[in-house]
Amino acid sequence: MEKRLYNFSAGPAVLPVPVLERIRDEMLCLPGCGASVMEISHRSKQFIAIQDAAKERLTRLLNIPAEYDVLFLQGGSRLQFSMIPMNLLRGQIGPAQYVLTGSWGKYALAEAKKEGATEVLYDAAATNYDRLPNDGELKISPDAAYVHITSNETIQGVQFPNDLTSPAPLVCDSSSDFLYRPVDIQKYGLMYACAQKNAGPAGVTVVVIRRDLLARSSDQLPGYLNYNNHSKEGSMWNTPPTFAVYVLGLVAEWVESTIGGLDAMYAHNQKKAKLVYDALDASPSIYLGHARKEDRSLMNVTFRFPTEELEKAFLDGAKAHRLDSLKGHRSVGGIRASIYNAMPMEGAQTLADYMRDFASKHA
Ligand code: PMP
Repeated sequence: MEKRLYNFSAGPAVLPVPVLERIRDEMLCLPGCGASVMEISHRSKQFIAIQDAAKERLTRLLNIPAEYDVLFLQGGSRLQFSMIPMNLLRGQIGPAQYVLTGSWGKYALAEAKKEGATEVLYDAAATNYDRLPNDGELKISPDAAYVHITSNETIQGVQFPNDLTSPAPLVCDSSSDFLYRPVDIQKYGLMYACAQKNAGPAGVTVVVIRRDLLARSSDQLPGYLNYNNHSKEGSMWNTPPTFAVYVLGLVAEWVESTIGGLDAMYAHNQKKAKLVYDALDASPSIYLGHARKEDRSLMNVTFRFPTEELEKAFLDGAKAHRLDSLKGHRSVGGIRASIYNAMPMEGAQTLADYMRDFASKHA
């Protein structure tokens, strides 16, 4: 079989090999089912068990209390950019406050503006989105309908290291760092994540929502866009993306059983990121990191080179080491190494070794 690359894609992204093997093994015949997961009714007892198990695993991993619901939706995080203000802002008195630490937060704001009053609480535009607000810099209004943050800005590579405390419901786009560390979910009103970075394949988006917020959704909303319908019907208001939910459940199982839970996952992620950032910091004249040091993402390492030639040489040389998909997002260029949960330690080590070697040859 062709050898797998070290895949640093920002998403869809690397999946754990044991999960891929399990999918392969169960592809034709899900145990006890006589068919693949893609061929059975979402209302079959086998699929209901799969979806329930996925939900239970997320509930255990994130310590989600009973006052929250976990929804499996479609439309990606982009649809959440609209669904959130449609459900939580329409009809509210206070505005939705947005914290802009990168591109995705800006996209989220653009959609919210269509639904109601918004305010920008923080905008790192002046420093080209290289940082987070400093301690005490966010003045969240208790009267806000909600405050929206992006816990990890996938393009710029800046990440909130802790859970914020907010007097208004905190809404968090956790698309690119879902399940990377333990979180205090009770600090959030709503957390959402498309699966295709840290938690599974494209096609399913997880929404963890505090149940009291469901009361805000108007019956006038189009059915699919109303969180209540999904909550009341156990994410079966329409046909859920069954294959994606199945894989999401397997990834959650891998995090829980193979890795040992989110504390262990976090330790693993910290170690991987340190390997790469240490190599970057060792050669500051070659690697120009984008994010302010204290705000660096453990998921997406972003940097540039002093010249275009060096960048090209770096990317060309990376191929020989089976290091793949390192090109930065088309909007910002440079290099982006996405080291999500499923990136093995040896992938991060191989990248770090290559970075050190490349720097010594081009210093
Ligand atoms: N938010 C963040 C932080 C993302 O990284 C992405 C995808 N790159 C999105 C939102 C959009 O997700 P989707 O493509 O699933 O709509």
